[in-house]
Amino acid sequence: METSWTIYGAVLGRSLLHNTQIAWLEYAKKIFTAMQHGHRCDAFVMPPIDGSLRWPGFIGRDYHKAKVKMLFVGREHNANPDKWDDQHGLGRLERMVKPWLEGKTNNETFFKQYATAYGEALTSWGPWQKVFGILAHRAGLTEHEVAYTNLSKCWKWNGNATANMRRCGQDFPLDDLIALIRPDLVMILAKPDTLERYVNGTPRISISHLHCDSAPHFNLSNEQLQEALAWVDARLQRGAQA
Ligand SMILES: [Zn+2]
Repeated sequence: METSWTIYGAVLGRSLLHNTQIAWLEYAKKIFTAMQHGHRCDAFVMPPIDGSLRWPGFIGRDYHKAKVKMLFVGREHNANPDKWDDQHGLGRLERMVKPWLEGKTNNETFFKQYATAYGEALTSWGPWQKVFGILAHRAGLTEHEVAYTNLSKCWKWNGNATANMRRCGQDFPLDDLIALIRPDLVMILAKPDTLERYVNGTPRISISHLHCDSAPHFNLSNEQLQEALAWVDARLQRGAQA
């Protein structure tokens, strides 16, 4: 029971997890087990993929210590059943998640295992190699100091996401995660019109709706990547002067 665990750690004053990590674990548990959403989700079910799990992404094991906190956002996981059990497939992560949800792995062990394995997997995926990794390295960060999530918490394979998949963002608002882990930068790998479909269901609300003072948002284009890199440089310079 995570409630008593949290109190236990607080009473003894020796919780080995940072508050941000504890908050993220609670958020993740809600998403992994979002049964209500699962009933209206179009993510395919095909062995060996367990159709009951949704995917929250991760925060790196050292995210809370990063000098610039970056949240990277993709659209949804590509889950290829043939590569499910590969070194960088989701199957390896799934085998860590199930025992944790069943209470057989404690929060600390799970967090360290999962965050480390997720970070390792992230570096093998296209979005990291093309965009996110470039930004992270510019700020001197490794994959273990950043956070990642998808707008949609379901997964797809072969072809475009369905309308239901794109509506995942309505059930799992990005703002909830932003409020929990307080990134300095949110980099979303989606064009504005795509983003609006994912986040709002219909392209009615402007992307600026997502902006908040503490976290500028950039969307992918080469120009915007350059803009984001310039933001990182300026931010680091400010940090150095402070
Ligand atoms: Zn979904």
